[in-house]
Amino acid sequence: MALSLLFAAAPRAVASFRASSASSPALDSGRRPQNVPGDFFVDHRCIDCQTCRWMAPEVFKRVDGKAAVAAQPISDDHRTKALQALLSCPTASIHTEKPAKDILQVQNMFPLPIDTHLLPGVYHCGYHSEDSFGATSYLITHPDGNILVDSPRYTTKLANNIEELGGARYMFLTHRDDVADHRKWAERLKCERIIHSGDVERATVDVERKLTGNGPWNIGADFELIHTPGHTQGSVCLFYKPVKALFTGDHVAKSEESDDLYLFLMYSRQPVSLQLDSMRKLLKLDFEWFLPGHGYRIHYKDVHAKDSAIESLIAITTQARGIL
Ligand SMILES: [Zn+2]
Repeated sequence: MALSLLFAAAPRAVASFRASSASSPALDSGRRPQNVPGDFFVDHRCIDCQTCRWMAPEVFKRVDGKAAVAAQPISDDHRTKALQALLSCPTASIHTEKPAKDILQVQNMFPLPIDTHLLPGVYHCGYHSEDSFGATSYLITHPDGNILVDSPRYTTKLANNIEELGGARYMFLTHRDDVADHRKWAERLKCERIIHSGDVERATVDVERKLTGNGPWNIGADFELIHTPGHTQGSVCLFYKPVKALFTGDHVAKSEESDDLYLFLMYSRQPVSLQLDSMRKLLKLDFEWFLPGHGYRIHYKDVHAKDSAIESLIAITTQARGIL
């Protein structure tokens, strides 16, 4: 099952979504009253996955446990970001009252470069899938073969755009929750899928490469796969060494309320102590970016700042849980 109860407010959101789906289909497609007046709006089917809020924070906020338009776009940049969020929303819950004539232009922007200077060749795929509760998928272009990190929702348009960037040689799946349309992508791109054997389920039994043991494993010279059990038995992070970036899946993310790191402990399948041991492994790695499966990315000013954030998370979690 995907992380349908990922965020603090999600249980209520998902419960109310299901209740309203059963009782009032008309309400589901309707505009939430929490939206400000204007062209853009979020509907009742929002699952509060946070995607629109980190993609277009100037426009979308959480209001009463789900996303809403808090301010209509006031610039071309804000409008573009809001339309990118509209295309990425896993439940197609973002709408415009007037047809968006620029939507094709925005479709052509995906995958989105994250930082052409600091993270050359690293893209956000957009098109999040409800099957993975709106998890983020990334594309890394590399001379030895491109890598898709987790699975976006399959669309022909996105597949065409990814092929224009060279397709994908690998699809690395961080863990069992974020596999979404992996089979469709593998069929289209002929990529070799990779997942840890501890997270193989019926849906992923045909994955080409199953990691066993504790690693680490390598993809060429630039990528290292770090086994980080805790959230799931087979959670693995991808370390892209030249750009000092770690793709974390659901092992660790950024809190939506602060700059602190955050563990989705209430959804961890394994002991907290094991997940903290997996965090300690990250202290030894030279990286500055967290690229998570859900929520905001983090860029620290240097590796020491990254380490102190991890140490703080370990200390706070240990104290809160009474772990010796
Ligand atoms: Zn997960």
